[in-house]
Amino acid sequence: MPTTVTTDEVKLEPFWWEAAPRPTGVPTEVPERVDVAVVGSGYTGLSAALTLARGGANVAVFEAGVPGEGASSRNGGGFGHGLKVPFSELTRRIGLEPAKALFNEHAASRKHLIDFIRDEGIECHFVNRGRFTGAHAPAKYDSMARELAFEQKHLDMDAEMAPRSDQSSFVDTELYHGGLWTRFGGHLHPALYHQGLLDRALAAGAVIVPQTRVARIERAGAEFTLAAGNHTVKADNVIIATNGYSGPVNGWLRRRLIPIQSQMIATEPLDPAVVARLLPEQRMIGDTYQLKHYYRASPDGTRILFGGRAGGEELNDPKRSGVHLHRRLTRLFPELAGVGLTHSWAGFVAFSFDYLPHFGVQGGIHYALGYCGSGVMLSTYFGHKLGQRILGAPGAGSPFENRRFSTRPFYTGKPWFLSAVMAYYAWRDSRYI
Ligand SMILES: Cc1cc2nc3c(=O)[nH]c(=O)nc-3n(C[C@H](O)[C@H](O)[C@H](O)COP(=O)(O)OP(=O)(O)OC[C@H]3O[C@@H](n4cnc5c(N)ncnc54)[C@H](O)[C@@H]3O)c2cc1C
Repeated sequence: MPTTVTTDEVKLEPFWWEAAPRPTGVPTEVPERVDVAVVGSGYTGLSAALTLARGGANVAVFEAGVPGEGASSRNGGGFGHGLKVPFSELTRRIGLEPAKALFNEHAASRKHLIDFIRDEGIECHFVNRGRFTGAHAPAKYDSMARELAFEQKHLDMDAEMAPRSDQSSFVDTELYHGGLWTRFGGHLHPALYHQGLLDRALAAGAVIVPQTRVARIERAGAEFTLAAGNHTVKADNVIIATNGYSGPVNGWLRRRLIPIQSQMIATEPLDPAVVARLLPEQRMIGDTYQLKHYYRASPDGTRILFGGRAGGEELNDPKRSGVHLHRRLTRLFPELAGVGLTHSWAGFVAFSFDYLPHFGVQGGIHYALGYCGSGVMLSTYFGHKLGQRILGAPGAGSPFENRRFSTRPFYTGKPWFLSAVMAYYAWRDSRYI
């Protein structure tokens, strides 16, 4: 197997952009003053803009690239259960009731996403048939079973453990040692979902300003001034919705976020019967490796869309990560060894130091970010809540609001340690795959 994919055969951009090409265009109308300026046009920014515009606010969304160019049109589209921190660990950290409040709020974000897509009639190949998380080792299966028992004691968890003998009805691989089957969760087409949000935000009257990076935000009393591309814009409120793409525009946030690349590949079209056997029922699949995989079938059931975090810095190049992910895919499904790729791409997610998402106000600026690689549900929900909060609407609060958001001494937002950490994780995984 070569160590790089050749660009003639493999497109180095998301498979999702085939069905939902990124809207091009240059800024046309840039207002000089708005009620709310939003920085970033992913799910968080657009969801906030939609709620605000429907609530009567004058809102402009500034986007450094084309709309949705960040993670929101690149992700795996998976949604489901749980925060990155296991419920038992969170309980030890902050106590049972606060931990329950955060997990229940996370579950509320799932309901919000499901209701929102249905009520808005957004066509994004939404599939809600559950999610299977394969255990990469027998001991991991046991610890997942203990965690599930604890969750089921305190939370509403419609899930069960599926032993290895049953796992082929979820995913047909020899590599897992059984896994967790949650009956809720699933996947959507991320770029079509983004398009649906964009269309609705525009129809509600929000102004989207593409190709316009916000370089600076200054505050004088109750008013903010943004340097956005060549424009100076005044705003009463500002929302930062830049997640894994957070740059120097707000140093306080940047010092609290660790940007990490997540990568995906799309296989060439396969016999749909093979895809349906390997991934029955169009479910979302994940696993418990240190560098976890997440994958699913394409909406038409002919391809496998496979994601993960490749490891060391040198793999932060879709030509090389594509080869690495292909190798992982064929370790899970040896019969795919001869199957080619059509797309290999990557995007940035943002981790926080406490592995929890954050939502709040700092220096008068509203933010929602740090989704730790699982933001499809929460970004939509938090964006909506930010909008509600600015509008002064009831129900705008959240147990996630203004929680302690820590950084580390000397950390400036450039994760110099990441390469070593990822290489260590890859080494730990190498015993199992
Ligand atoms: C490959 C991949 C796979 C993933 N898979 C899943 C999954 O299966 N399930 C799941 O739940 N989550 C997944 N995620 C995470 C999920 O996509 C994100 O959590 C979510 O999209 C975050 O949305 P957002 O709007 O906050 O940020 P983004 O969509 O990243 O948008 C941020 C935007 O801000 C813009 N920006 C940054 N700085 C500025 C500036 N100064 N001025 C103007 N604009 C600026 C950027 O250009 C970008 O468009 C995945 C992410 C990736 C990359």
